[in-house]
Amino acid sequence: NSFEEAGLRPIVLENIKKSGYNKPTPIQKHSIPIIAKGRDLMSCAQTGSGKTAAFLLPIINKLLSDKPLVIEGDHVEPQALIVSPTRELAIQIYEQARKFALRSFLKIVVVYGGTSVNYQLSQIMKGCHILVATPGRLRDFVEKGNISFSSVECVILDEADRMLDMGFMPVVEEILTHHTMTLMFSATFPEEIQHLAGKFLHNYIFVTV
Ligand code: AMP
Repeated sequence: NSFEEAGLRPIVLENIKKSGYNKPTPIQKHSIPIIAKGRDLMSCAQTGSGKTAAFLLPIINKLLSDKPLVIEGDHVEPQALIVSPTRELAIQIYEQARKFALRSFLKIVVVYGGTSVNYQLSQIMKGCHILVATPGRLRDFVEKGNISFSSVECVILDEADRMLDMGFMPVVEEILTHHTMTLMFSATFPEEIQHLAGKFLHNYIFVTV
């Protein structure tokens, strides 16, 4: 019932405190230990439930083990990939991630459509442990060869049902075929989402709050 019990590193615990979070929400309490163990997860969670921190905290905690970041001449290999249906949501996730990774070496980058590719590319090429992206812009960078999934340890699909409604599933499916550990968050659990979970999650745990 506390963030301390979840086995998070001191630096992460301090950043949680600075964010003003006193105790985990139900989705955080149930999801953090599962994600920390490296299991795939399907979670039915609404906006407002604290779902963003539920996946960010264990992922940031895991990436702090400091695996070398691969940056080659023309491409970067992020270690975690968070896919979000909209730019607004992507920015919110990015801002929370920055707070939880404060005073650590982790580099976090957000990319989305509708703005300059060059600026985002320059950010990526400075190094990127965690990439937050909307599907279309992510595909652009992958196709250009600037991002490779070879080092990805975890893929997170946020608001999967909205990505489905927006017609992003073909892109998302392309991304998921490269995955290792996968986490899916969705407000609803219609048949298409169940199908996607069945196809891409391995031996997953279902959490609903
Ligand atoms: P989310 O459902 O991830 O969009 O989060 C909804 C809001 O709850 C955000 O403003 C978070 O900053 C806040 N929040 C998330 N987890 C906690 C927590 N454990 N304690 C207090 N506020 C939280």
